[in-house]
Amino acid sequence: MADGELKGRVAVVTGGNGGIGLGMARGLAGAGASVVVSGRNAEKSRRAVAELNALGAQAVAIEADVADEAAVEALIRKTVERFGRLDVVVNNAGMNIRKPVQDLTLAEWRQVLDTNLTSAFLASRAAYPIMKRGGGGKIINIGSMMSIFGTSFAPAYAASKGGIVQLTRAMASGWARDNIQVNAVLPGWIDTELTQNARKEVHGLHDRVLARTPADRWGVADDLSGIAVFLGGPASDFVTGTAIPVDGGYSIQG
Ligand code: NDP
Repeated sequence: MADGELKGRVAVVTGGNGGIGLGMARGLAGAGASVVVSGRNAEKSRRAVAELNALGAQAVAIEADVADEAAVEALIRKTVERFGRLDVVVNNAGMNIRKPVQDLTLAEWRQVLDTNLTSAFLASRAAYPIMKRGGGGKIINIGSMMSIFGTSFAPAYAASKGGIVQLTRAMASGWARDNIQVNAVLPGWIDTELTQNARKEVHGLHDRVLARTPADRWGVADDLSGIAVFLGGPASDFVTGTAIPVDGGYSIQG
């Protein structure tokens, strides 16, 4: 493991203690990176770190609520204090409140936007001077199929995920000369805690997803490992501002 293409690099994965974030953390760790997994639930983070350490990776947990500006800044600062550098930030932490616009409160709207979109702005802004000083870096933002499609039952989520793609393009064009590549990943339907809840709340969702996905299955968190290694490593040094679906073909189906 230590000889992988990310050997010596340091990655922070928000929401890296479970689901897609942990799948990406496994990929990065497997390629030799040291990984900080961040989340709010200390027990989940402890288990994630134990799993990554058992793979032979250097991994630590740093608790942070990504909607809290000071906590996000502290996360980036503590990462550099611990490892001496920062090469990759994966802005993955996210949540959903499934209600149509007419039922959504302003507080709920703000909670989703703060967690899914403002968080990526905050972490990227905090990482920028460190990456610039270090000669470059990689920012990976997690969008969704709802970066592309609308949906009646998740308007705040769709707005946050559409915004992630535009924020990605804005940062990519601003920071390319600093050798910082910024890309978005748009996962299809992946089996995690988030979508286990969605399947309970949205009638028929499981079968509708299957019917529309050419790969004929739901994704699993480890389906996101490879793209994390690609976008987090030197193979993507001339790739920036993209939004790459990892969706078993969901988004190409008419
Ligand atoms: P999970 O619910 O399994 O994981 C979400 C992660 O985000 C958890 O690790 C959680 O950690 C963390 N998190 C949530 N809110 C906060 C917060 N305020 N501060 C810090 N951490 C937080 O969901 P997924 O793995 O499915 O989702 C990960 C990302 O992928 C999200 O951005 C989601 O929108 C996106 N996505 C998921 C898809 C899917 O099908 N699953 C499809 C498309 C996109 P903790 O519990 O410790 O707070």
